[in-house]
Amino acid sequence: MDEETRLIRAGHIDRLPAQTVSPPVQRGSTVLLPNAKALYDGTLGYGRAGLSAQFGLMDALGELEGARGVQLFPSGLAAMTAAIMAVLKAGDHLLVVDSVYRPVRYFCDQVLRRFGVAVDYYDPRLDGAGVLALAGPATRLIVLESPGSLTFEIQDVAAIAASARSKGVLTLVDNTWGAGLLFKPLAHGADISVQALTKYVCGHSDVFMGSAAASDPALVAALKACVADHGWSVAPEDAYQALRGLRTLATRLARHGESGLTVARWLAEQPEVLTVLHPALPGAPGHDLWARDYSGACGLFGFVLRPGTPEKVEALLDALTLFGLGFSWGGFESLAISCDPQLKKRIIPIDHGGPLMRLHVGLESPDDLIADLRQALDVYGG
Ligand SMILES: *Cc1c(COP(=O)(O)O)cnc(C)c1O
Repeated sequence: MDEETRLIRAGHIDRLPAQTVSPPVQRGSTVLLPNAKALYDGTLGYGRAGLSAQFGLMDALGELEGARGVQLFPSGLAAMTAAIMAVLKAGDHLLVVDSVYRPVRYFCDQVLRRFGVAVDYYDPRLDGAGVLALAGPATRLIVLESPGSLTFEIQDVAAIAASARSKGVLTLVDNTWGAGLLFKPLAHGADISVQALTKYVCGHSDVFMGSAAASDPALVAALKACVADHGWSVAPEDAYQALRGLRTLATRLARHGESGLTVARWLAEQPEVLTVLHPALPGAPGHDLWARDYSGACGLFGFVLRPGTPEKVEALLDALTLFGLGFSWGGFESLAISCDPQLKKRIIPIDHGGPLMRLHVGLESPDDLIADLRQALDVYGG
């Protein structure tokens, strides 16, 4: 054969790769089938549906979520929007918690309404009966996010899921705060559990990914079909990084939770701070539900400053040296944001009595983080 042909044919490995601790990162759009019959007999025939690393991750997430089926998406937002699309059709009505991640609200308002789905928002403090009182004959799905990732209300997932089920309404929980570990939505009766793996599972602020998990066979099939029909695909390197993050999730989360609580308790005693919104703090909103349902806390919580000008809030944030200013969380590093501009789109007005701030407590020493916060609070108060 000519060299140009030999260069195309060379380097194919027929034997199985050596057994390593983690799955091989198989890169491939094309999958070679063993014979002509396999072309059309339902054998996996194309790489978009995933290869070794993606399947390894889906299996591991099934274990984490206690789910029969898990689908992967190229971001947490895509997992939310796809899971919603998987179960709705034109003419349906959707109930969404008012504290939902803001881009999900945009999707509901701008995309779903265009396709003939009616959307209403409900107060995150409502119980099961309260939420279901807003449902009508066309209500098909209730979206929950617990706790809300800015305002930290804990929802009674079990009660809402039970009420919904009795009326034939499905429930979907954004469980990014619980990371699949601190809270198990499916075990509490929810139908679909979504998380932004981008946050704690990946854990290093360098990969976008989302997952949707279900156990009911019809929902597992609907999620799978939704991925296939929309052409979602996740890169093998990204799936590998997510699986690598999953191995240390429990260890990292324990440390985030412990340090977060140390910082939260300290903040609660500072004169510049009105309230701390941390579900694991006794007396905080949602604490009783948290104590009933959660096995721990992550590093994300809010606090309310005594009233001060927006300029003072900016001065506080700019004075921080160990906390980065950024809209994410779940990585190894600490982050801070102010929240009030993000609350403007909400239906149910909330007034915390002062500027609302959010911290993600990372894996640094909590003593150093506290010293950084103290000098920034001096700037706010001074
Ligand atoms: C970040 C986040 C998402 C979206 O995840 P991406 O991977 O950034 O798209 C969804 N829900 C919550 C609660 C989040 O914090």
